Amino acid sequence: MPNPNLSRRDALSALGLGTLGLGGLASLTPRAAASTSTASTTAASLRMVHMTDIHVQPERKAYDGLLACINHIASKKPDVVITGGDLIMDGFESTERRTTEQWDLFMRSFKEAGYTGDVRHTLGNHDIWGWNKKKSETRGDEAKWGKRWAMDNLHMESAWHAFDKGAWHFVILDSVQPNGDGYMGRLQDEQFEWLTADLAANRARPTCIVSHVPIVTATTLIDMKDKTADGWKVSAGLMLTDMARIIRLLGDNPQVKLALSGHIHRNERLDYRGVSYICDGAVSAAWWKGAHHECNEGYGILDLNDDGSFTHTYTAYGWKAQP
Ligand SMILES: [Zn+2]
Repeated sequence: MPNPNLSRRDALSALGLGTLGLGGLASLTPRAAASTSTASTTAASLRMVHMTDIHVQPERKAYDGLLACINHIASKKPDVVITGGDLIMDGFESTERRTTEQWDLFMRSFKEAGYTGDVRHTLGNHDIWGWNKKKSETRGDEAKWGKRWAMDNLHMESAWHAFDKGAWHFVILDSVQPNGDGYMGRLQDEQFEWLTADLAANRARPTCIVSHVPIVTATTLIDMKDKTADGWKVSAGLMLTDMARIIRLLGDNPQVKLALSGHIHRNERLDYRGVSYICDGAVSAAWWKGAHHECNEGYGILDLNDDGSFTHTYTAYGWKAQP
């Protein structure tokens, strides 16, 4: 039986037909918690890495972990890397000083690892500075307050945007909106209308959507205690509260193949109306304290074919939690 998780590209590497390096050899080892793929007859044309929930911090050697992850990713030779948000441990309820420490680490990581490839970013709830004013000791009128600090660091002109790479179209969403001192998962109307227009204008390209908060997730229910006759109560922060209209929109756009997310630190895949909704674990697993349930420190590799089919593998990079 051929290994169904071995991508065509890896198979070519194994035969010495692709770029055979340490990365190619390393990728022949069994992968932890691999996801399945759609049937594919064409060679992978574009390799994307989705690394989410990095949560870099000064503690637990998280920075060394991030460098190890970037080096592992580099060995896979991706065409594009998309970070899925929660790049830093937390700015949402952290002081300016603490948030500065974390951004300093993140901002030098790719450079220090010597990674020069194409890297795009997604905003997560923990990348937003000071929305909890009390705990962060902010007023709300600071120049870097809210999403501004992260957007400036990451050179993002807008918190949501789209771009093309190879045959594919990529849409990066801003899935975190204010909710009192906290947040909720949602696309505000302006962004939803932009998404509707963007998809209408790009029907010919297979499309991958990336959001930090999942549009929809099921496994997040596992952590909730057994409920009474009232049933389950899902927090507004766990998946998008306007998921109904988004799921309808994506389902009505058959070119949309993938909706990737992070946030729940679990590897999960739901297929619905032609869209694979994949939560891609976490680089930090349980916030650098080891595996989070079944999920090891890892990232997603997606080999995207021109015909819209793809292979997805959740790839552990071998980090051991540090005290
Ligand atoms: Zn997270």
